[in-house]
Amino acid sequence: MHENYVGRFAPSPSGQLHFGSLVTAVASYLDARHHNGKWLVRMEDIDEPRCISGVDKDILTTLEKHGLCWDDEVIYQSQQHARYQDKLDELISQQRAYFCTCTRKQIKAMGGQYNGHCRDKGYTVSTEGTAIRLKLDTSLEGFNDVIMGNVAVPLQTSRAEDAVLKRRDGLFSYNLVVVLDDVFQHVTHIIRGCDLIDVTALQRAVYGELGFSMPTYGHVPVASVAPGRKLSKQNRATPINNLTPLENLVRAMRFFGFSFPDATAFENVSVLLNYAISVWDRKKVVKTPEIIVPQHESTYYSEPL
Ligand code: GLU
Ligand code: ZN
Repeated sequence: MHENYVGRFAPSPSGQLHFGSLVTAVASYLDARHHNGKWLVRMEDIDEPRCISGVDKDILTTLEKHGLCWDDEVIYQSQQHARYQDKLDELISQQRAYFCTCTRKQIKAMGGQYNGHCRDKGYTVSTEGTAIRLKLDTSLEGFNDVIMGNVAVPLQTSRAEDAVLKRRDGLFSYNLVVVLDDVFQHVTHIIRGCDLIDVTALQRAVYGELGFSMPTYGHVPVASVAPGRKLSKQNRATPINNLTPLENLVRAMRFFGFSFPDATAFENVSVLLNYAISVWDRKKVVKTPEIIVPQHESTYYSEPL
């Protein structure tokens, strides 16, 4: 057990779990447990200004109330800065990463795709207003997604642009830390929402450039209020009601396309989850990037938009 599969759920504690984030947690949990894998939880609080204190605990409570028990300790990105910086320092000293002064406006003028302008400028840490970028001399490649099937890269973006590792405002970028943390935690399987399917090719290019072996990816549909608008705090998704875990889990299973008994068929969450683990089947998950959840479902969000 546990040898070949380490999965994870990586919420950003910028708001409590809502139906959209619960379904992602459920999918990654079930996929891991169905394969006798480990399941980790990581708090992605790298973008600290957006995080709300105490929300991490609320998220963990909601997971527990739904029987989604994780292995090992929860790690917090806000406590990993030294490790991220060490990697950056190493890449800079090897000249595999460099300082870049380009503004959003300048990149727009390049046609929207960064062209490596600062690669050989020799900027240093003392140059003002710099981001740090990784040299990527590679093309973005499609990949096989264990849920969605083959994912192709659109032709116009097939050349990888030098990925930002640290932003001009000094924050480590998500595309760096997600890779470093998944490697650090020995994650082998990344099951997450389709809202991240488009950045996956770039993240895979970062894996390749850093010399790490790639994990397996599976993307599940995201819950949306309207096309292109996933459920989120911004569109008033209400927090999950911890008093109705059985109903919430049943709704999550049906969301993914499983025909699933009513909540009353289950004595408690652990009985329900054991059943869900046994019937979990990647092939049965609906293969659309988003599913519009009905407006009248008042438990999804508080008021009509
Ligand atoms: N923290 C990201 C989010 O909440 C998820 C990142 C990932 O699963 O790779 O959207
Ligand atoms: Zn530049």
